[in-house]
Amino acid sequence: MSKENLDSSNYESTRAERSSSDKRSFDVVIVGGGPTGCAVGMFTARAGLVTCILDRGPSSLKHCAFLENYLGYPAGISTDRYLEIIQNQVERAGCVLNSQLVTAVRSESNVFEVETNEGNCVNAERVVCTSKADVSFLEPLDRDGTLLEPYEARFCPHGHERTRFASGVVEDSGKTPIGGLYAAGPLAGVGDQVQISAGHGAMVGRQVVADSRREDGYWDDVAKWFDWCPPKSRGNYSPSQHWRETILEELPKALDEDELVANDHPVSDIIDDVVADTLEMYVSLEQVKKMKREAQYQLAQHLDTEVLRTVYDERIEPDAAPSSI
Ligand SMILES: Cc1cc2nc3c(=O)[nH]c(=O)nc-3n(C[C@H](O)[C@H](O)[C@H](O)COP(=O)(O)OP(=O)(O)OC[C@H]3O[C@@H](n4cnc5c(N)ncnc54)[C@H](O)[C@@H]3O)c2cc1C
Repeated sequence: MSKENLDSSNYESTRAERSSSDKRSFDVVIVGGGPTGCAVGMFTARAGLVTCILDRGPSSLKHCAFLENYLGYPAGISTDRYLEIIQNQVERAGCVLNSQLVTAVRSESNVFEVETNEGNCVNAERVVCTSKADVSFLEPLDRDGTLLEPYEARFCPHGHERTRFASGVVEDSGKTPIGGLYAAGPLAGVGDQVQISAGHGAMVGRQVVADSRREDGYWDDVAKWFDWCPPKSRGNYSPSQHWRETILEELPKALDEDELVANDHPVSDIIDDVVADTLEMYVSLEQVKKMKREAQYQLAQHLDTEVLRTVYDERIEPDAAPSSI
C-alpha cells in the first residue's frame, strides 16, 4: 500500500474543492481497498474523477489460503499477490491509495468530511463504502437511526459487535438514502467471492460516474457511455462524424433540450465533450502494440524472478523440470 500523501493539490480541482477550499478534496473517497474498493476506484479514476482509496487493516481475502476460483489466473494466485496487483493497477489508473483507517464520515453543506485515525480530514463529493464488515464510521450520518443497525459478526477473532446498513436501505445500484453515499460488495448484500465483490464494485463505480455526469447535465444515454477501448482500424467511417450523428439521433428521445440548457450546460458543449471523450477511447494498432508490451512488463514485475528464469530456461531446454519452481 502506497503511503501517498493525502494532499490533492497535484490533481485537477474537484467540485468539492470549489465548495470548500481549505481542505484536501476528492471527487470520490472509497473506504476499503480490497477487491470491491479497487474495482470502484478503477472506474471512477479512469473516468477522470479525483479518487482516493483509504484502506487500513487486512482484506478478508487474507483469511483465504489461496485464490483458485478467480478468472484470469489458470492455476490460481496467492491472495497477497492478487491484492498487490489490483492495488498497483488502481494506482496506475490514477487513484490515490492511503493506508489510514476511516473513523468518521460527516456531511457539511453537501460535502462529506472523512476523518481518519491519523487526525486527517478530507472532503469528498461522494463516499463509497466497501469496508465489508463494519460501517460504524457512518454513525454521524445516521441522524434518525434508520440507516444503520448493530449486528453480531461471525468468525471474528477481535470482538463480534459490528455495524452494518439496515436491511433494504442499499439499492442494487449501491445508492443509499443519503445522496452521494454508496455501498458496494458484500457490505451492500451482494454476497461473497472475489468475482462477485469486484463485479458489484465495478457496477457501483460506473453508477458513481454516471451520477456525477448527470449532475453536469449529461442525459442517461451519454452519462453511462465511457470506458471502451475500440481499435482505430475498425471500419473506415469517420468516428467523429459517426458519434456526433449517433448522439444527435438519440437526443430528441432522451430529453427536453431546454432542460439541459437551463441546467447551465448547453447541449452542444456536452456533445462536443462526449465526442472528444469517445475519440480518445480509440487506439491505433501502434498504441495497441505498445500497450501489449507494457502490460507484459507490468505483469512480470509481480512474478518471482526465480520463476521467470526457470520459464525462460525451459524454453531453451524443454526437458528442464518444472517441479524445480
Ligand atoms: C476464510 C475465507 C476464505 C475465502 N475464500 C475465498 C475464495 O477462495 N475465493 C473467493 O473468491 N473469495 C473468497 N473469500 C471471500 C473474499 O475474501 C471476499 O469476497 C472479498 O475479499 C470481498 O472483498 P471486499 O473488498 O468487499 O472486502 P475486503 O477484501 O475485506 O476488503 C475490505 C477492506 O476494507 C478495509 N477497511 C475496513 N474498514 C475500514 C475503515 N474504517 N477504514 C479503512 N479501511 C477499512 C479492510 O481492512 C479491507 O482491506 C474468502 C473469505 C474468507 C474469510
